[in-house]
Amino acid sequence: MLKPVMQQIFDRIKAAETIMLFRHRRIDGDCLGATKGMKGLIKCTWPEKKVYLTDEEKSGFLAFMGPDDDDVPDEVYKSALGIVIDVGNSERISNQKYALCRELIKIDHHIEREPYGQINWVEDQRSSACEMIAAFYEAFQDVLKIDQETATHIYTGMVTDSGRFQYEGVTGDTMRLAGLMLDQGVDTETLYAHLYLRSFDQLKFKGCIYENMQVTKNGVAWIHVTKEMQQAFGLDFETASTAISSLSDIKGVLCWLAFIDTDTEEIRVRLRSRFAAINGIAEKYNGGGHACASGATVYSGQEMQALILDADRHIGKYKDTHEGWL
Ligand code: AMP
Repeated sequence: MLKPVMQQIFDRIKAAETIMLFRHRRIDGDCLGATKGMKGLIKCTWPEKKVYLTDEEKSGFLAFMGPDDDDVPDEVYKSALGIVIDVGNSERISNQKYALCRELIKIDHHIEREPYGQINWVEDQRSSACEMIAAFYEAFQDVLKIDQETATHIYTGMVTDSGRFQYEGVTGDTMRLAGLMLDQGVDTETLYAHLYLRSFDQLKFKGCIYENMQVTKNGVAWIHVTKEMQQAFGLDFETASTAISSLSDIKGVLCWLAFIDTDTEEIRVRLRSRFAAINGIAEKYNGGGHACASGATVYSGQEMQALILDADRHIGKYKDTHEGWL
């Protein structure tokens, strides 16, 4: 469905000579797919436009999606229309030179906390930012052109952020838009091999997670991926952070948490849940995100335990007052 804000964004893109794209820190398939997807749509349609996606943060796991552009002089930022995709608050924009852009557009699917753009298109019910880019393509498909690579980028974010189309935000619209991308000839066999095959060592790490994880009284599963654990399995930070997905399928566990040590005093927290929303807990601990998938940061073991206790109480209350959860 074409909304006035989408028309505004289309008009700004059409008028711009230079466009810079921005994503969030701690790169994932959605922010990368959405920015590369938007760049692809613009370049396929208007090859003469200058479009840059430049960032210091790289991903080993998502390297198959191709490199970013080299950085450009500040003058280029200053002359550019900036489009930030999949970032709820400006502090999380990974390339902070976004602030140089002459005008800023925000396209996002997180719960709105900071409308930092001059134009803000936020739909927090969407299962991914890539779904919004697919909807943008659909709305303007009489004009916009797409190719297989662009569709693959967009489809990649739709698959990864929706947990292979299983999370709550997935709707009929999600599937129709995913279908529109598949119609462009996405090679799903290769894509899923890139996304889901694991080395034997990574599976051993999974074994270690199941041996060391704990479950609280009310059903909060958690694991602390310590520096020692990361060293023992030779894990980079990104791979260590995938621990969260190993905790997702336990009956009676409505919330699961992974605490991942970083090189600083910061401990990354990944929070996931089903049935009960947990973004309020993330917000209490320097974070935010979606109702059932959020991120946060704690700075000590003590704070980690406090967060676990909060989550346990929250899930206890939820179970006491709701029926039908599993
Ligand atoms: P993650 O566990 O890092 O995949 O994050 C889950 C969701 O929460 C993603 O949509 C992130 O963009 C969002 N998120 C993660 N960390 C933060 C944070 N510190 N502040 C706001 N949103 C966050």
